[in-house]
Amino acid sequence: MKPFYISFLLIALLFSNCKEQINEDPTTTNPLEKLTNGNQRFLDNKQIHPHQNKQAIINNEKGQHPFAVVVTCSDSRVSPEIIFDQGLGDLFVVRNAGNLISDLDMGSIEYAVEHLNTKVIIVLGHTECGAIKAFVEHASSETKVKSLQHDHIEDIINTLKAEEEEKKVPEPHKNHLQECIIANIRHSTNLILKNEFLNQNEIQVIPMLYDIHTGKVTTIK
Ligand SMILES: [Zn+2]
Repeated sequence: MKPFYISFLLIALLFSNCKEQINEDPTTTNPLEKLTNGNQRFLDNKQIHPHQNKQAIINNEKGQHPFAVVVTCSDSRVSPEIIFDQGLGDLFVVRNAGNLISDLDMGSIEYAVEHLNTKVIIVLGHTECGAIKAFVEHASSETKVKSLQHDHIEDIINTLKAEEEEKKVPEPHKNHLQECIIANIRHSTNLILKNEFLNQNEIQVIPMLYDIHTGKVTTIK
């Protein structure tokens, strides 16, 4: 290929990327729709990568206005900005192994609601969650209880063990892990719903599940 054509292609590619990066979902301003549309773009490999450029840094320089809080797992396969095709300043993310809500995590959520005026809170768990797997295996094996050496990992397991929603999950069966994952998402959702301060602020709390096999996010009914 002649150098002229290569230069032309490179310039065209550069401009097409610039165009993609300043785009924004033009179809909706509804937070939930923005997330579901973004996840669909991710699934279709048609991401617009909004707010992932210098202009986004400038726009958020004096303050942030995230349209949703996302409470999710630290799992490296569940990165909210990637799976929802969002960018800088869009999501206020609270992450820890197992998408649990300690007092500190609740403080982060309260901050977003009180100071950033964010009204939509997503609790996003995921399939094959290692934290829930550890809890399930822990419950079914006394040897593993004794072999736990890291007290803080045990704290995560004990937190899950104490959840009323987990206690209601039937005895181990084919879909046991998945049911425990969903019970834990419901638990975190219920904790937020029981927070009196948050509920004075007309929040919307939505439990969701991310499938690490397909990339799809679904709302839990
Ligand atoms: Zn996880």
